[in-house]
Amino acid sequence: MDRKELEKKLIHEMISLFCRKHHDGRSLCPSCLELEDYADKKISRCSYGDQKTSCSKCTTHCYAKNKAEEMRQVMRYSGPRIMLNAPLLTIKYLCYKRRAEKNGGGNAKKFAGKNSTD
Ligand SMILES: [Zn+2]
Repeated sequence: MDRKELEKKLIHEMISLFCRKHHDGRSLCPSCLELEDYADKKISRCSYGDQKTSCSKCTTHCYAKNKAEEMRQVMRYSGPRIMLNAPLLTIKYLCYKRRAEKNGGGNAKKFAGKNSTD
């Protein structure tokens, strides 16, 4: 599984978690479905490949303002809980992230400018 697939799956889990708690549904409600679809497209189009660390550290703000805000709320709720709900996925994702950060993290802010040769 590459980084993008992993990220999509993780985002799906996080949105599901948020939706179940806040929107009273067994499956995703229309607005959460739309947010997931939106995130999916953004991840597919992301140009950072496997060297990307995480969207929260990304210096390219590819989300529209209102979507970014929705996503922030999802992350705020699901972030601390996702480890319990999808431990395997979370661990895999964290490994990816750590590796990317070790390699200079293609798009991480603190490395900006230092890592032009990758
Ligand atoms: Zn929902």
